[in-house]
Amino acid sequence: MVLCTNEIFIDGRWRKPTGAGTIEIENPSTGTSIGEIAASQKEDVDEAVDAAQSALDGDWGQLSAVDRGRLLTKMGQVVTEQVDELAQMEALDVGKPLKQAKADAIALARYLEFYGGCADKFHGETIPYGNDYTVYTLREPHGVTAHIIPWNYPMQIIGRSVVAALATGNAAVLKPAEEACLTALAFARIAETVGLPKGALNVVPGTGELVGAALASHPGVNHISFTGSTAVGTSVQAAAAQNTAPVTLELGGKSPQIVFDDASIEAAIPFLVNAGVQNAGQTCSAGSRILIQRGVYQQVLERLAERFQSLRVGPAIEDLEVGPLVSGRQKAIVTDFVEHGEKTGLEVVAQGTIIDGAPSGGHFVCPTLFADVPPDHKLANEEVFGPVVVVIPFDTEEEAVQIANNADYGLVAGVWTRDGGRQMRMARQIKAGQVFINNYGAGGGVELPFGGVGRSGHGREKGFEALYGFTTLKTVAALHG
Ligand code: NAD
Repeated sequence: MVLCTNEIFIDGRWRKPTGAGTIEIENPSTGTSIGEIAASQKEDVDEAVDAAQSALDGDWGQLSAVDRGRLLTKMGQVVTEQVDELAQMEALDVGKPLKQAKADAIALARYLEFYGGCADKFHGETIPYGNDYTVYTLREPHGVTAHIIPWNYPMQIIGRSVVAALATGNAAVLKPAEEACLTALAFARIAETVGLPKGALNVVPGTGELVGAALASHPGVNHISFTGSTAVGTSVQAAAAQNTAPVTLELGGKSPQIVFDDASIEAAIPFLVNAGVQNAGQTCSAGSRILIQRGVYQQVLERLAERFQSLRVGPAIEDLEVGPLVSGRQKAIVTDFVEHGEKTGLEVVAQGTIIDGAPSGGHFVCPTLFADVPPDHKLANEEVFGPVVVVIPFDTEEEAVQIANNADYGLVAGVWTRDGGRQMRMARQIKAGQVFINNYGAGGGVELPFGGVGRSGHGREKGFEALYGFTTLKTVAALHG
């Protein structure tokens, strides 16, 4: 397994970046360094964008949609062969428990299969417009697409953004997060293995302030897909506006899971817990606010408390339900939130346990469940990005909608009820990019479009819908001579 490299991937070649900058790679399960990788500089971004443009003007741009799809499908096969290796790499790099890291690698393979299959099935339309005209539309790639991604689900986000962009004929420049570069570099090696034309994919690890900002403001970039925090996303959008480059923003969330009196509690509990603590709560769509109707409040709270108490936290390699947080910085942020909750009088009803023998330098935080949280409390409205879940009681359907829509975010919601009419009303009234009824996440299928409203962002990735975002529409109207 190749881990650290002092090279970056531009124009189909591995080479040292300009300058001598490096990024230290830390194992979050131990807090120790596992090596360094090369950090790109602004000049490298310029070269990567030029290489992507040359690819569009050259071999990559000439390739038929069928052949593009075949290459992506082949990449999917290689990813499938390397699932275990990729999972181990991710577990080491971001502290994700092995089973969860493996699911990410399998998802990446599935994205390559799905979008590989879509490449030659996505097209424009003909439009009836009088008898003297033939009018049709062409779906064309934007050109050079930049992909600035976070550290929490690198492989899945590469799948839904970079792969969808390549399928539609764009050339991509990928900037992974400083904390999670290894699988992005492995993805470049896989592209190389299957013979993806040079320059179609470029990977430039580096800091956000330098490399991310350089990509966001680059006049040669024709579209930006940004996944990360709302604060950085808005700055990326402002920079891109200078070049009128379109931007997809996949940002944070404070997603509600709403349990009504008539819900199947038995079925709901595993979803309610998992949605809050998966990837140690470092999930944009974490179901971090659980709203429970008064009639079942005590019953559900007790069940949740039992489950939280049984959660064990430990190194990624132990493959427990909860691993470490990605960094000491993230641990400090999450710990501050928990302390704020306690200081402001919130009741901690249950916490998980860090296993005996867990390395003292690992960034472990006990999953924490707060109950009876007022809907306007900071912890009920701000994204914690750690395994911290708040429970809020409510009485009526109207109140549930009002609390659910209270946060500025609008990414995901889960609704638990057997009442069909209420299911439909809630689906309509909740402000969110996706509403899951009697489940949460629907297994994360690559076919399901995904994105947010409000401060959770705009644009959609995943599914067929992503293909619209990664293309521009040209209308052709021919007057018959
Ligand atoms: P972040 O915004 O700090 O970083 C995201 C990326 O932006 C990184 O690659 C970073 O290097 C880069 N960056 C940082 N400063 C930059 C700048 N000035 N200009 C350009 N790029 C810059 O986010 P994070 O801490 O890596 O990730 C956590 C956040 O991501 C959470 O808010 C989470 O909800 C969100 N997220 C959203 C989704 C989604 O699909 N909606 C998915 C995953 C994560």
